[in-house]
Amino acid sequence: MTSIPLVDLQAAHAEVAGEVREGFDRVLATGAYIKGPDVGAFEAEYAEFSGVRHAVGTANGTDALEMALRALELPDGAGVVLPANTFVATAEAVVRAGLRPVLVDVDPEYLLIDPALAAEALPAAAALVPVHLNGQLAPMDALLEIAGDLPVVEDGAQSQGALRHGRVSGSWGRISATSFYPGKNLGAYGDAGAVVTDDEQLAKAVRLIGDHGSGRKYIHERFGFNSRMDTLQAVVLRAKLRRLPAWNTARRAAAARYDELLKGLDGLTLPGTLPGNEHVWHLYAVRVERGRDEVLAELQAAGIGAGVHYPVPVHLQPAFRGLGYDEGSFPVTERAAGQILTLPLFPQITEGQQSRVAETLAKALARI
Ligand SMILES: *Cc1c(COP(=O)(O)O)cnc(C)c1O
Repeated sequence: MTSIPLVDLQAAHAEVAGEVREGFDRVLATGAYIKGPDVGAFEAEYAEFSGVRHAVGTANGTDALEMALRALELPDGAGVVLPANTFVATAEAVVRAGLRPVLVDVDPEYLLIDPALAAEALPAAAALVPVHLNGQLAPMDALLEIAGDLPVVEDGAQSQGALRHGRVSGSWGRISATSFYPGKNLGAYGDAGAVVTDDEQLAKAVRLIGDHGSGRKYIHERFGFNSRMDTLQAVVLRAKLRRLPAWNTARRAAAARYDELLKGLDGLTLPGTLPGNEHVWHLYAVRVERGRDEVLAELQAAGIGAGVHYPVPVHLQPAFRGLGYDEGSFPVTERAAGQILTLPLFPQITEGQQSRVAETLAKALARI
């Protein structure tokens, strides 16, 4: 039996292959591999898509988050509040920017940062970084209110095109970061990312930081480094951005189909959508109450590319011991880490593939 991948990058490529080849030929003919015209064009298109005036391409999403934080010029070592339930990169970027991650737990239903806990942590911090986990926005209305004058920086790596109360991911924060890692909803053919903001000064600062602090050749105005988007990646992203609304719609349809196929299964909790959100289903993550690892192994043995996002929370990672947290620090995040199971979902997934995933999952659950 053929296997079903977690994400089918070939299926997405097939839809844009002609456009990408043409675009690559155009770049190869000019040799404009860095700062080519496609980068500026993509930045303009992505800013519009994100409902803001400025987008700056970066080498990856982790850099984008670090650069957004650096542009804010927060005091050295200041605390930055972020959810414990996120990919490790959110915390890495905070440390790289010379700041201190202050983790808070998530709500038990949607596993998004809990505004009440964020409110408790914020008085001792200088910024808030909500993460739009799995493709739906954190409760940004509540978070902006509790943040008051403190800057809010969205980690929108998993939420390109997601809405809350009709307002798109990236347009809520003072400045926001996203990732175009190949498996994201908008994925490059390698690493890439972007910072988006309405604030012209912040956009300028980010552009300087990612270009050796230099606005004029060999004059370095501020400390920076090299984190630019490659022209070839911009070509891919321009072609894919045109399809993204349709792809996100297809993801929603696939998520609804899983909801239907999996409802009522014993020991299984389906992912919910926070009221007010339009989800873009970067990941369809169910929770298995008992025996998650056995269920995962059965799915994988049947050729189904299920995964776990994420098996070990940031605060229990060896690299982040120094933050001073321990087992029990964030009980909701820790419980979720033992139950989460991510099922294959991508815009081109077929009903047949989804039925096979659901049947295999139901059989595995019945055996536990
Ligand atoms: C992917 C991801 C990042 C990092 O992006 P890269 O492009 O891989 O550096 C940051 N935060 C979250 C939540 C992510 O999922």
